[in-house]
Amino acid sequence: MAATKQVVKPKIFGSLLAEVVRKDICCGCGACVSVCPVGVLTMKKVSGKDEQPTLIGKCILCEYCYNQCPWTEPQPSEVNIFGRSRFEKEELGVVLASYSARSKREEILKVASDGGVVTSLLVYMFEKGFIDCAVVSCLGGKEPLKPEPRVVLSPDELLECAGTRYTVSPTLLGLGSAVDEYGKERIAVVGTPCQIRAIRKMQYSPHGALKYGSKVFMAIGLFCMESFYYDKLIKEYLPQKTDLGKVSRFSIRKGKFIVEADGQKVVNVSLDEVRPYVRGSCHHCTDFTSELADVSVGSVGSPDGWSTVLLRTEKARRIFEDAVNTGYLECKPLEQVKPGKVAVVKLSNLKKQQK
Ligand SMILES: Cc1cc2nc3c(=O)[nH]c(=O)nc-3n(C[C@H](O)[C@H](O)[C@H](O)COP(=O)(O)OP(=O)(O)OC[C@H]3O[C@@H](n4cnc5c(N)ncnc54)[C@H](O)[C@@H]3O)c2cc1C
Ligand code: SF4
Ligand code: SF4
Ligand code: SF4
Repeated sequence: MAATKQVVKPKIFGSLLAEVVRKDICCGCGACVSVCPVGVLTMKKVSGKDEQPTLIGKCILCEYCYNQCPWTEPQPSEVNIFGRSRFEKEELGVVLASYSARSKREEILKVASDGGVVTSLLVYMFEKGFIDCAVVSCLGGKEPLKPEPRVVLSPDELLECAGTRYTVSPTLLGLGSAVDEYGKERIAVVGTPCQIRAIRKMQYSPHGALKYGSKVFMAIGLFCMESFYYDKLIKEYLPQKTDLGKVSRFSIRKGKFIVEADGQKVVNVSLDEVRPYVRGSCHHCTDFTSELADVSVGSVGSPDGWSTVLLRTEKARRIFEDAVNTGYLECKPLEQVKPGKVAVVKLSNLKKQQK
């Protein structure tokens, strides 16, 4: 009997649309757009929604877009990234050392979200020659308070980008630009857990976009419980509360969503009030602490003005410890601060349960 031939359909942009975008689990990271070898994808505004990847030309069926998306299978393996799987007791993923830390530079502390660890690590890596570029998220585009990717080429530029914006930044478009337009070779990327996952897929998946992934020297992951739709939070909700032009800072602390303008808290409401604006992808996401990053940084677990730091790779540990030894950062073991690791584990477990 003749064997029946199985036709395997290529996983192209149409598959990404069907499995991710139309199911409202696209997190707007920009990975698919940045790797498309023929440039036929773009992030485009869809009426009533935030930007999403859109096909604008002839697809060559290469499957690259599909394979870098943080939500498609296969997922990157911890063995490839860290050389081993997490031990059973490692509830937060592979962690070699954990600290509560803050910057020693006043100018960074003034603008940072928490302890300014992310910005200080980037400054250290620039000044010591570890990186030739940082891909971060920044404001300053045409639309008010809209985070955009920024390719940073010198440490001075980093101060403008410190702080947290709670709407999506398509940061991985910045990685594409750093490689394709600036020819950068040793890049640090700062991103939310979903964005770090896309970078690991570029580096380690069987169809990974190594052209980009191989240039990432350091993946700095942020803790992240949720992010919000820009249109709903910034364009609809916030103008009812304040003048967008005066907003200087966003934060989420102890279940409150806080917006500061002119040094005053102009919004200080329960997170429940803004929860209807949380992105669909965030309801689907189970990674709170950026479990695949080289180093993860967040506020939970540390006192106000300090950051919790989870060092996951030897490279990140060496760089963090040298940044401490050379006066960029100060730190205490996470076990010595309150509320410490227990608070991080609690939120991490909460996020894992939502699937
Ligand atoms: C959407 C979002 C949700 C978060 N939720 C939590 C949480 O629930 N619990 C918690 O403990 N921590 C959370 N964080 C992390 C926290 O807000 C701080 O980013 C972290 O503690 C680092 O502080 P820092 O002072 O070291 O960073 P800084 O030195 O201030 O640097 C912050 C870095 O974050 C980047 N950044 C800012 N906004 C974005 C964005 N939208 N997307 C990608 N990168 C961005 C900036 O480019 C900058 O490089 C969240 C961060 C984001 C972006
Ligand atoms: S050419 Fe490749 S990366 Fe671009 S849309 Fe088609 S399948 Fe995706
Ligand atoms: S999550 Fe990222 S890679 Fe996936 S479809 Fe959305 S923008 Fe593209
Ligand atoms: S909650 Fe998950 S999907 Fe949403 S922004 Fe954070 S990491 Fe991305």
